[in-house]
Amino acid sequence: MKPPTKASAGASAKSPMKPPTKASASRVVLRGGHLRDGSGDLGQHDLYLKDGLIEGLDLGGAVDAEYDADGLLVTPAFLDLHAHLREPGQEVKEDLASGLAAAAAGGFGTVVSMANTSPVVDEPGIVADLIARSERLALARLRPAAALSHGLRGETLTDFAALRAAGAVMITDDGIPVADSHLMRRACEYAAELGLVIQTHSEEPSLRAGGVMNEGEVSLRLGLPGNPDSAEAVMLFRDGEIARLTGARVHLAHVSSRRGLEVADWLKRSGAPVSVEVTPHHLTLTDESLATFDPIYKVAPPLRTAADVDYLRQALTGGVIDAIGTDHAPHTLAEKERDLLDAPFGIANLEVSFALLYTRLVREGTLGLERLLELLQDGPAGVMGWPSPRLSPGSAADVTVLDLETARAVDGRQLLSKAKHGPWLGEELRGWPLLTMVRGAAAYRR
Ligand SMILES: [Zn+2]
Repeated sequence: MKPPTKASAGASAKSPMKPPTKASASRVVLRGGHLRDGSGDLGQHDLYLKDGLIEGLDLGGAVDAEYDADGLLVTPAFLDLHAHLREPGQEVKEDLASGLAAAAAGGFGTVVSMANTSPVVDEPGIVADLIARSERLALARLRPAAALSHGLRGETLTDFAALRAAGAVMITDDGIPVADSHLMRRACEYAAELGLVIQTHSEEPSLRAGGVMNEGEVSLRLGLPGNPDSAEAVMLFRDGEIARLTGARVHLAHVSSRRGLEVADWLKRSGAPVSVEVTPHHLTLTDESLATFDPIYKVAPPLRTAADVDYLRQALTGGVIDAIGTDHAPHTLAEKERDLLDAPFGIANLEVSFALLYTRLVREGTLGLERLLELLQDGPAGVMGWPSPRLSPGSAADVTVLDLETARAVDGRQLLSKAKHGPWLGEELRGWPLLTMVRGAAAYRR
């Protein structure tokens, strides 16, 4: 880890980490950090990582590399079930190398990539190729999702069994709603047989129509076509009912509105096997942002009203929300500088998500740190049926080290994503990851 430079250091930057003594270390120690995982607060310890696994606490003995984590929080690396990494075919926006580097810089050790690429990830060979290439990069782990329908056309189902055998962990047409309810039913029946998770993009297409922002007071004032919260609520209800009917595990992605969340809550309480995701942008931005006519705020589902944001924030402490997924959706600056009506939907946020949520929710008192971590660790792991990430011996050595104190402004030039723009440029945030270890090796060092 480089010592902080004048340009990037906050006034009270501290604990610059020592660089490792070897590049490819097999036994590593993170010294003196404050350890916390989903089992609770573990106190201050030296954490030893060996051969890709957590070895134990305070063991001593020779190491190949050491990092000073004094004054820093050491916790399992985050899991993101929802990121658009754009490879294959849209590498001008993002690719595996930039996307997985950005993920590690954001504290994420595992990323589920979406299938709406070019070509679409609808064949086993594409899944296998993505995994092989990501492993050569040695950044965050890639667990690809595969498409539900061939070409995301919503007509014929892909071969879920073959896609799973190739390494796909989730089935989703995310980016495009599955309009045909019968196709959704057959997808859920097939996924239930295989134990695969289906992720939805729940917006009813004919209600959403040409909406470019939330339908409401602001869209009327601005004269922009609106996309009503009903489009979300109706489709969430359908997707949840099909989950109940078929027994499939259905992950309701990026729930953005109060109405939507109320439907999701009802579905869960009535026994539908659904899980619920919210995104960092729907927790921190409102439709008033669109008053600038800046497409940087154009996202699907759209940014909602301040009342919706408040409702989502309050719900974080209850049981309805299982996970925070980034829905990191990078585009080129040229695309995001088009006219608002023509610009593509999506916000890039992998690198700022934790710092943003820690600063705006935890430090401002809406949410406890423990719960925020849960929504990025045990929450998403539970959705997928993966083991809860832990700092105990034998767990994967996927660990992130967070500086919760030093304030630093978001600087586009320092972002590792190809999308060096976004709604939070210039904002002073705290909670920056300084180091992310994946398989026991440094995937990111600040
Ligand atoms: Zn989506």
